[in-house]
Amino acid sequence: MHADTPSSPKSRGGADDPRPASSAGISREEACSWMGSSPEELPRLLTRAGELRSQFKAGVISYSRKVFIPLTNLCRDYCGYCTFRRDPAQPGAHTMTPDEVLAVARAGETLGCREALFSLGDKPELLFPEMRETLRRLGYRSTLHYLEAMCELVLRETRLLPHPNPGLMSAEWIRRLAKVSPSMGLMLETANRALLAPGAAHDRAPDKLPAKRLRTIEEAGKQGVPFTTGVLIGIGESAEDRVDALVAIRDLDRRYGHIQEVIIQNFRVKGEIPMRHWPEPGRAEMLKTIAVARLLMPEVNLQAPPNLSDPDYEELLDAGINDWGGISPLTPDYINPERPWPHLEDLEGRTRAKGFELRQRLPVYPEFVEHAAGRPGLLAERLASAADDHRYARGAA
Ligand code: SF4
Repeated sequence: MHADTPSSPKSRGGADDPRPASSAGISREEACSWMGSSPEELPRLLTRAGELRSQFKAGVISYSRKVFIPLTNLCRDYCGYCTFRRDPAQPGAHTMTPDEVLAVARAGETLGCREALFSLGDKPELLFPEMRETLRRLGYRSTLHYLEAMCELVLRETRLLPHPNPGLMSAEWIRRLAKVSPSMGLMLETANRALLAPGAAHDRAPDKLPAKRLRTIEEAGKQGVPFTTGVLIGIGESAEDRVDALVAIRDLDRRYGHIQEVIIQNFRVKGEIPMRHWPEPGRAEMLKTIAVARLLMPEVNLQAPPNLSDPDYEELLDAGINDWGGISPLTPDYINPERPWPHLEDLEGRTRAKGFELRQRLPVYPEFVEHAAGRPGLLAERLASAADDHRYARGAA
């Protein structure tokens, strides 16, 4: 099945869809060649990427106003770059109560947020008896059962739409979570399994096996669930590995048409992480990777987090992104707490200065809203009232 087939979750060709019919994208070989190109060739690459972005979505850069809900920071994995995860005995280890979840969601609602981003460690109860006890006290059999209930709570009690990011998911869990959230996500990060070797970024992170992550992303495709994924650059992968990861994502999107967003995230050094002495990818490398992603996927939403590219984050627009991702006016970026999100006024001003209009979207991208709204029950009702005529966030500032 191709993205353009009727069974794709992506809407095409509506009155407000400015995209042309062609969207082939370059080959893996061309992408590798661009990744190896000289600094002198970068302007040409950026120009080409910018043109493709304009053909895809002209003049508009989107973002999602969100609250970040770190449901639990316990995690059974130990990624070398992570400051989010804790063991149960570590200071700051925490699993939120339902009251805490609701308090954050309600506070975000009053600030015009429409997304509740649930971010959490992967299956901590498999490793920690303390988490099993916490879940027992809360009345749930697993972290995913608890997540499902909290998504339902937020959906029922607020105007926010949940977007869960719980790590690997089975077909059954994708089906269950899709009833309480219009979209969900899992970063592929890399396609190179060698990063699980001793001393590498994914040493002691069994859930980061690329084949397992691709299986989850594919399963979401089979079920037509709008899906966010992406790559993390600078964690020990080669330029070709980056291309392979992007091509793997593109191939799944070509097959199922469900990839609503590809994130290009850059590794940043933080004080206490095992990878604190690793070099960060440079700005040119970041721009090049984004631009190559745009050339590979001319009609897929591309996002790069502005807070990881301070102080001149607006340069990312030159490489062909069309989205800034989730921006919170309320909660810190718990994954990168030392790098606050830009104020929305600043984001709007810099976006406008580059010649674009900033528009608030829902966690599910406009071209996938119609499909997600076809699901029965409360989710459809909430989506109908949250989306405007162009399927962006209704009544958004
Ligand atoms: S990046 Fe995610 S999976 Fe890895 S240790 Fe942190 S929370 Fe766990």
